[in-house]
Amino acid sequence: MTHAVEIRDLHKYFGDNEVLKGIDFTVEPGQVVCVIGPSGSGKSTLLRCVNMLEVPTKGQVFINGAELTDPDADIDAARRHVGMVFQQFNLFPHLTALQNVMIAQQRVLGRGKNEAEIIARENLNKVGVAEKCDAYPGQLSGGQQQRVAIARALAMNPDLMLFDEPTSALDPELVGDVLTVMRKLAEEGMTMLVVTHEMGFAREVADRVVFMDGGVIVEDGEPSKVIGNPSHERTRTFLHRVL
Ligand code: ADP
Ligand code: MG
Repeated sequence: MTHAVEIRDLHKYFGDNEVLKGIDFTVEPGQVVCVIGPSGSGKSTLLRCVNMLEVPTKGQVFINGAELTDPDADIDAARRHVGMVFQQFNLFPHLTALQNVMIAQQRVLGRGKNEAEIIARENLNKVGVAEKCDAYPGQLSGGQQQRVAIARALAMNPDLMLFDEPTSALDPELVGDVLTVMRKLAEEGMTMLVVTHEMGFAREVADRVVFMDGGVIVEDGEPSKVIGNPSHERTRTFLHRVL
């Protein structure tokens, strides 16, 4: 079976600073993998290397068996299958929710306006903000904006979704709505790689939890193991701080 994501001996330097020091892991189709670890451990850099928003210094990245780190790879084509949701929602402030979900469909996938609108409405409905189609981002709560951002990613029909701390910028009472949408996606079989500090979500939804520290993977296994009964002192120390 082809891995949804395969990372082989990934290294990333920023100048002299080696931020990723040899990362190996895989995500299988339909799996949810949560990446946890302290601030500065390289989680965002790893996620950004998966879709080549950062170019790895060394090592290989494969998505659905295609090597993105191959110099001849069609990065744009590969990225079309990958949705990304950031901590900051990055919606266009001058476009409505509906327009935000339509624009990449039209520009990147070449869908016509009617088709893009139908798909945008379906996805806004799916994330529970159908009634906010005509609102601008500034008129929406953070939780609603993040759900629009998820709808925007889903409208591109990704077979892999990357989430980088999608709830970290939200007021606590809005976190649950976004996690509910992510849980639903997981149940539908979406392949997901999620950087998160939400240990409840990781424990309940993830098939695997990866603990990173200092640019390496310290521990990778089932949530009940990595969160419930970690093997490494570094993992225990981290969990004591966040739980
Ligand atoms: P995390 O997401 O786990 O908090 P990051 O991947 O954001 O960690 O960062 C890991 C390290 O890489 C940090 O020391 C950070 O300062 C550094 N870093 C991240 N992005 C850049 C960049 N574009 N240029 C220079 N250093 C960076
Ligand atoms: Mg980060």
